[in-house]
Amino acid sequence: MNKKTLLFDCDGVLYPLYQLPTQKIVLAMKETYRQDLGLSGDEQQKISEETRQNNRLGMFNYIKAMCEYKNYDYDRFCAQMAERIDYSNIEYNPYIAQTIPHLAALYNVGILTNNSRAHLAKVVERVMAQPLEKLEASGVKIFDITATEENGVFWRKQPEGLALVCRLNGYQPAQTYLFDDAPANIDAAKEVGMHGILIDNDTNIEKALMLFGNNNDKVFER
Ligand SMILES: [Mg+2]
Repeated sequence: MNKKTLLFDCDGVLYPLYQLPTQKIVLAMKETYRQDLGLSGDEQQKISEETRQNNRLGMFNYIKAMCEYKNYDYDRFCAQMAERIDYSNIEYNPYIAQTIPHLAALYNVGILTNNSRAHLAKVVERVMAQPLEKLEASGVKIFDITATEENGVFWRKQPEGLALVCRLNGYQPAQTYLFDDAPANIDAAKEVGMHGILIDNDTNIEKALMLFGNNNDKVFER
């Protein structure tokens, strides 16, 4: 009944950011809207201002608006963008590869990212050496940024987005743990009554799960 839910962020949690700096993701986005959408500087500027004025913040609300403007398929954009990113520095992590599917047998487990499914698939291929579909088959839910979409806006991990994911999946916030490297996301989680566990230089996912286990559930004791 009251099964706990563990939600893991992707970038900065499944792998440390030095293996793929965010700047490289931004560059791939820029290359894709220049080359595939053929947007002029003026058009791009105008869309950027409009999305910001409408409070549709973040990279993927911007991408969505550009795709709508050019009548270009959003998923195709994300796939093209991921093709332009070099994922080769992201290392295989045997702990994550084994632990996340294992946890899915005991808890509701999801990967919740403010990035695209195409990107997450590339990351999972590197970190866990398996296709995303196989991870899903083991019971891990995949929540890319479209999982937080309501009324045409990607809410991301703002309180609205986190509450939406809980509501749509029947997760009780008080029983839900967000593992994330962004302090703002941890704050948002707490705002909606979830637990937030910050991943940083001192606490990687392995240590965080051990702390979680020691405090919450004997399953994690080793
Ligand atoms: Mg992150």
